[in-house]
Amino acid sequence: MDPESAIPYGRKTQHAPALKEVHILWITAGLGCDGDSVSITAATQPSIEDVLLGAIPGLPKVHLHNPVLAYENGAEFMAPFHAAARGEMDNFVLVMEGSIPNEKINREGYWAAMGTDPDTHEPITIPQWLDRLAPKALAVVGAGTCATYGGIHAMEGNPTGCMGLADYLGWDWKSKAGLPIVNVPGCPVQPDNFYGDAAVPALSTCRSRAHDSARCRATSEVAVYAYRARWLRPRGLL
Ligand code: SF4
Repeated sequence: MDPESAIPYGRKTQHAPALKEVHILWITAGLGCDGDSVSITAATQPSIEDVLLGAIPGLPKVHLHNPVLAYENGAEFMAPFHAAARGEMDNFVLVMEGSIPNEKINREGYWAAMGTDPDTHEPITIPQWLDRLAPKALAVVGAGTCATYGGIHAMEGNPTGCMGLADYLGWDWKSKAGLPIVNVPGCPVQPDNFYGDAAVPALSTCRSRAHDSARCRATSEVAVYAYRARWLRPRGLL
């Protein structure tokens, strides 16, 4: 069979994605339980396998860097995060799981960190990662109620002063692609609402604090379509 006829007809008629490759840098080291990472493995529309193996027409090649799901560990796992922080990764979506502790009130030590700084060998706290990565990201996504609004442990009296992404970055914050923070709440996040959209990145802006419910899901799905039409299509990201 000649190489031209070996290409499925559907592939020839698809629009090429605006971006060839996108990395998803997923931080689970916020204050949380990793339940959202586990939840997305149950997605079916599309499944995580469909997204990562390139089965979805029009999607760029997606590279997922999530410590719960990665084969790599230690320095090998951290390398893409450091590369992105140095400005050596053009297209990435930053996903935050777990709430962001206030490191200004940690007295000594730190509340939560991921990896160590290659220069100082000090732990890199979650706010430091957000400061380094968020300005360079195509989109910033909060996965789960802890990341979006602080979760149950953000209630008054928690000594960490933890908060949601928008409380840390600012409610009017926009990414370098001009996208607002994408909040996908739920405890854990509803997997199809999250993965069907975050990897594109077409993302839900449902702001319900409720746990997964029919109303929240319906609101979220309407918001997904609105988000695609309002933010992604005009920027050639969908
Ligand atoms: S939102 Fe729920 S599932 Fe996600 S990190 Fe918080 S407690 Fe865990």
